[in-house]
Amino acid sequence: MEVVVTLPIAPKIQPEITFLESSFVADVISRLTKKQFILPLNFLGRSHSEKVVDPDLLFCNYKNLLNRFGINPSRYWRDSSSEHLLYVQEAVDLLNHLGFIKISREKILKCDCGTVEILASTKLLPKGKVYNFLNGEKKCILCNSVLKLVDTESIFLRLPFLKQLKILPQKLDKRAQLEMKNSCSYSWRISRIRNTGVSVEIGNKQFYLDPDFLWMIISFSMLQKRIKVNTVISSSRSLRKAILFCILSNIFSKITPTLLLHPYVKLNYSKDNFWDWETSQFKATSLFNRYGRYLCRIFQGLGLNWGKLEFSLETSRLFWLSRSINNLLDLNKSDRLFKKPLEIEDIINKVNTNTISEFITLSRRREKVSTEFRSIIPAIIGK
Ligand SMILES: [Zn+2]
Repeated sequence: MEVVVTLPIAPKIQPEITFLESSFVADVISRLTKKQFILPLNFLGRSHSEKVVDPDLLFCNYKNLLNRFGINPSRYWRDSSSEHLLYVQEAVDLLNHLGFIKISREKILKCDCGTVEILASTKLLPKGKVYNFLNGEKKCILCNSVLKLVDTESIFLRLPFLKQLKILPQKLDKRAQLEMKNSCSYSWRISRIRNTGVSVEIGNKQFYLDPDFLWMIISFSMLQKRIKVNTVISSSRSLRKAILFCILSNIFSKITPTLLLHPYVKLNYSKDNFWDWETSQFKATSLFNRYGRYLCRIFQGLGLNWGKLEFSLETSRLFWLSRSINNLLDLNKSDRLFKKPLEIEDIINKVNTNTISEFITLSRRREKVSTEFRSIIPAIIGK
């Protein structure tokens, strides 16, 4: 079975509506391509503040939230489940067998608590900086210990360039190709000195694996249940990770997925005469309670300015939308979803900021919306 997936998502307790954008896109694509949607979730390697929440409770809440938005994947795939972890050794063995893995002794800078662990030779500082420079010393911001140099063996992964990878929208192809060239030009350290809870053996030596690598190979465990990744949905902001995910998925299943990149949607809290916006109002739950599924999803659809890396969605558009919702719903009474599966190129031409804005304008004026557009409305609103 070939499916649509997002990159593994780390569930949040109270996400803003924009956090659900990838899941929303995957849901729409799945409805219109008639392919099943499987949502991978990332629980491993979560930050300290999130660790206090019981993962099962977090999972349940998140599932309920998506359900209210009409997002009901045929399956969830948790990276912390035995369903996935059982196959990690096998996946690493395969990568090793194919020559993508090498063990090498390198100098690592590490702190006492294990949060900071970076290659001493690296020029790239990790994002979300976890250490500080103080009086010429590098210190971990969590445990405050001075980083020490350790000589150790680590696993390095270097992935092959995947020429056939199809990137959509076409406009982002050049950028993605360049990113892929960069990402495939260096080896990526996938093991950790600290005990991450998941280890593998290579040549009788035990290595703990980086949690980020563990979610990256989730397509391998899916394959054990004959689930093959056909389409990967990701925000353009996670371009590098999305590319690595697609390459790994191709190595495992021999299927080259299509990578669909949607803009990273930010809310622009425009103040207008009608409303004094507060950011808390844009939590997915608050918006759902206030406006319901259809309106929330149309608002999410307005963020689909394909080809842009980032897109600022004016919150005032929500007001404009809430004024038209009755007209929009009137139109939707008789709408039926397209019977034939659509191609992704076709879907992004039909579902985007412009077409949805036009739909709202026409509905407000009680003017006719094309039959073609009407047939995809149910997919947009999650009917
Ligand atoms: Zn530390």
